[in-house]
Amino acid sequence: MKITKVKSHVLQYDLPEELGYSQQYYSKRTCHLVEVTTDEGITGWGECFGPGAIAVANKGIVEGVIAPMVVGMDPMDRDVIWHKIYNLMRDHGQKGMPMQSLSGVDIALWDIAGKVTGQPIHRLIGGAHRTKVQAYGYGMMLKRESVEDHVARFKDESAAILEMGFTATKMKTGLGPEADVQLCAAVAEGVAGKGRFMVDANHCYTTSDAFYVGRALEEMGAYWFEEPVAPEDLDGYRELRAGLKVNISGGEAEFGRWGWRNILENRGLDIAQPEVCALGGITEYLRVLALCHAHFTPVINHVWGSAIAVAANLQLLAAMPPMPGGLHPWEPMLEFDTTHNDFRDDLLTEPLNIQRQVAEQDGFVTIPDGPGLGVEPDRDFIKKFEV
Ligand code: CA
Repeated sequence: MKITKVKSHVLQYDLPEELGYSQQYYSKRTCHLVEVTTDEGITGWGECFGPGAIAVANKGIVEGVIAPMVVGMDPMDRDVIWHKIYNLMRDHGQKGMPMQSLSGVDIALWDIAGKVTGQPIHRLIGGAHRTKVQAYGYGMMLKRESVEDHVARFKDESAAILEMGFTATKMKTGLGPEADVQLCAAVAEGVAGKGRFMVDANHCYTTSDAFYVGRALEEMGAYWFEEPVAPEDLDGYRELRAGLKVNISGGEAEFGRWGWRNILENRGLDIAQPEVCALGGITEYLRVLALCHAHFTPVINHVWGSAIAVAANLQLLAAMPPMPGGLHPWEPMLEFDTTHNDFRDDLLTEPLNIQRQVAEQDGFVTIPDGPGLGVEPDRDFIKKFEV
């Protein structure tokens, strides 16, 4: 069996309303799918993390740099292919966009391996430790509106997300430490007695501002405080984790086992959030997961993008071993974006219907058990949105 073609599909549409997080506002939804074709008629699908112009540039890496390295290779040789690509790109990108590009290709190879063997990816990894996983719903994005309007909207939206059946919800901050504490208080009120809430700063704080917000979060009982400071600020993470009672989470902007070794050995994370569509694909995710568990750091995958990314993460969440285990073990959750996303809802020939599952199954989502990712994208839909 040989790889005959590696193609990127960048899909985009205009969002009905602008959304924001602590770093920027955005008005387009983008996703980057990778299609790997073989000489035996089996096609695999993957996804690369990275919005907007990043996706367009990554398409150049996938098709211009990676494809010529792997066409003609046997797609079942996933680890051989991974190391060939990584070693040839090493001098030009051990992190960032080259790794995002490699990720989409690697995920597609796992999809192919599943289709060749007739097994879902979680069985190729070692089996299902769980057949369903709880989802948390994130929303509460920033907008160009006053602090008071944010406060009112965040309170209503957090309550509405729990009403949908999610047992936890996650908000953005980024208006400045004092306003942010007001937003967090609004969400704490919105979810009171009904579920947990988490706070995602997208690394907008200095360490001292993160302490200010984090101390307020301790009082409010937030479950985790995500990316409080810049991913490069390992000292900041370590100080915050040692000094705050709220869980410190992060890692979505880290790549590969060597980067992860550093942030884990630094002891700055209570919860690790690896992004499979960025850090190097499923092959590298499994090594990063093993490193996290070697440090007894629980993992809740970062999830962003289309239904392909959601499906890949469901496979990984099924195959994640309990850590440390027990009668009532600590369980991971599926991160689920509740904001407008046609690529999550309408891309597949048979949709995952996550929101409906959450509503009907007490917040749980069933792991797909078809071959590979267990889902197939609709080619007509891809054509319609491809840029
Ligand atoms: Ca985040």
